[in-house]
Amino acid sequence: MITIEPGAIADRAAGVLLAGATGDALGVPYEYGSRPLPPPGEPPRMLGGGLGNIAPGQWSDDTEMACAIALAAADGADLRTEDGLDAVADGFLRWYAQDPPDVGTQTRAVLDGARPGPGSAARLRRRAADLHARTGRTAGNGSLMRTAPVALAHLGDTPAIVAVATAISALTHHDPVAGEACALWCLAIDHAVHTGEVDVRVGLPHVGDHWADLLDRADEPERFAGANGWVVAALQGAWAAVRRADGVADGLERAVRGGGDTDTVAAIAGGLLGAAFGAAAVPGHPEPLHGWPDLTGADLVRLAVAILPA
Ligand SMILES: [Mg+2]
Repeated sequence: MITIEPGAIADRAAGVLLAGATGDALGVPYEYGSRPLPPPGEPPRMLGGGLGNIAPGQWSDDTEMACAIALAAADGADLRTEDGLDAVADGFLRWYAQDPPDVGTQTRAVLDGARPGPGSAARLRRRAADLHARTGRTAGNGSLMRTAPVALAHLGDTPAIVAVATAISALTHHDPVAGEACALWCLAIDHAVHTGEVDVRVGLPHVGDHWADLLDRADEPERFAGANGWVVAALQGAWAAVRRADGVADGLERAVRGGGDTDTVAAIAGGLLGAAFGAAAVPGHPEPLHGWPDLTGADLVRLAVAILPA
């Protein structure tokens, strides 16, 4: 384990990936009512199961795809370039090729049968656009759930965060509202890593006007349970959990108890909670945190720090 001073920028950056993965693994057992939520007073646990056959302590597609982005950045890819986006697209396709236990519907429709290698980002974008033309439904929460590493790779660079969050979202989710949600959340993470403050409104100047009202209406996570497979409701549910949280554990529990797509909302919430409170504040659990591609929580800490700008 690398030594990071609690409260330092590196600690809060590491918290982004660690709390995101923790939220994911905490939400897995309860995804869409797979298992009843624990009674009040009893915290959710990383029991595994859920919609895929997921092991106790194991994170799911949310963190797996976030790792694909982070690993591309750690490998030296410049995510602002088409080559960098190819590296991310290839990472998504490598992940999909090993038959993960849980894959979102829209993500599967885009990745299934797509060819990796040079030009892969353009091919995914085209497939995502075709899916939109066919169904009109490409604003699932599947790009928001994985977006947090973009804020780390471009920490402090607002134009790059907006451009890259939007571009990586569009690899699988053609609807622009998904890209806006990713930009908004990454800007909030960037702000929290720098300041320790939680304020998702800092990104409002970079997205459509409708978002201010959507954020105002994010009061209780439960209100969004019925629709939080949709990116807007997932962001609202996560924001509702984070804005009242008095710490990482409290915020993640609020997100999970919100119901619906529990692992994804808690993974999204975790990215911002970890940015504000830091890795040192992320609670440990008896089940060891782990997941594709054969990483542990300690590896996520190292990865987060490795992708920060020099
Ligand atoms: Mg998941």
